[in-house]
Amino acid sequence: MNDQAPSVVSVDDPTLDELCAKLAEYAADADSAPRWPQRQMDLCAQYGVYRWFLPREYGGLGWSEPELLQGYYRLGAACQTTTFILTQLTGAARRIAASENEALKRELLPPLARGEQLATLGISHLTTSRRHWKRPPLLATETPAGFLLEGTSPWVTGAVASQYVVLGAETEDRRQLMLVLPLELPGVEVKPPLELVALSGSCTGAVECHRVEVSQRWLLAGPEPELMRKGGGGATGGLQTSTLALALARAAVDYLLEQARLRPDLAPVASRFQEELELRHAELMELAAGGSPCTKEQLRQGANSLVLRATQAALAAAKGTGFVRGHPAGRWAAEALFYLVWSCPQAVMQANLCQLAGLEQ
Ligand SMILES: Cc1cc2nc3c(=O)[nH]c(=O)nc-3n(C[C@H](O)[C@H](O)[C@H](O)COP(=O)(O)OP(=O)(O)OC[C@H]3O[C@@H](n4cnc5c(N)ncnc54)[C@H](O)[C@@H]3O)c2cc1C
Repeated sequence: MNDQAPSVVSVDDPTLDELCAKLAEYAADADSAPRWPQRQMDLCAQYGVYRWFLPREYGGLGWSEPELLQGYYRLGAACQTTTFILTQLTGAARRIAASENEALKRELLPPLARGEQLATLGISHLTTSRRHWKRPPLLATETPAGFLLEGTSPWVTGAVASQYVVLGAETEDRRQLMLVLPLELPGVEVKPPLELVALSGSCTGAVECHRVEVSQRWLLAGPEPELMRKGGGGATGGLQTSTLALALARAAVDYLLEQARLRPDLAPVASRFQEELELRHAELMELAAGGSPCTKEQLRQGANSLVLRATQAALAAAKGTGFVRGHPAGRWAAEALFYLVWSCPQAVMQANLCQLAGLEQ
């Protein structure tokens, strides 16, 4: 790691522009293949990005929620793949920080804050994936020493480059728990990354557990009924998903505004999108500050709708040239599809479907 690189210590810090410019340069590469974007993750470590999310006592900078969302908004407009990966890595670190397992926090958080080790997240099978299955996808059986894990965590981003997964599991009677799974434990199998429609560099794939013994010392929360719904597993589907969607819309709207300077016929469309983006961004920041201009689900629906329309408008404006691989407009339109499936609670998915079908909501 290069200790000479300047740390980004606040969202107004001009070094954040420098980092965003570097990430934007490599964004097409990060999206295109299931190859871990090591250069981008090193940049994030060098610029101190992992520290934003953690308390000062563990080597973090303790940024507030509005500051974190502004940080995500800036990074997400530069490179969706890197920023999405960050949400999973920092989501894992923040869940460790929010737990009551003091020994584990002292051991794991300082190297995570420095970016020397990575922990990622495998919890969707307790929230938005495989919920229609009769049996738990990842079964935890209590043992005198801790837990025996059997089954699959179907979606884990960046496991190929991580040392730990913050993992959700369920007991036979469907009490939920969350623990840290060291990936080197016997019986853990990290499956090869999936070929994705976009964001391929996230290296997302399944992690399988074949009778993995995990000692009690790795437990973060539970087992208890509805752990995730009660918030014991940390926030899911919160404002960060909407923030990344709006960040991608930002990239598309900036492109439309730039084109409109050369092509006046695009001006009304570009400024209409600009107004909508400003409105949604203001709602986001108000929600982050504790206000209630709308619900989180309403913002997510609005952000989803905007990102899909704005990226497709950018592609339409870029015409056939935008459909050629390598042009950002085509990539943005494909990346926007991710928001139809990523961490989509039932209400948001239903609203997306009704909008697509032209049904009243
Ligand atoms: C690129 C990517 C990266 C991700 N990274 C992470 C990560 O790092 N960590 C994490 O925790 N999560 C992650 N997720 C998971 C994500 O947040 C969602 O949980 C996931 O997209 C849900 O999709 P699913 O196909 O698993 O849903 P499921 O609901 O399991 O649907 C699977 C299939 O089952 C069928 N089906 C659905 N509902 C029913 C029903 N009621 N009855 C019968 N059949 C049904 C459908 O045909 C569907 O195709 C990631 C997802 C993606 C796409």
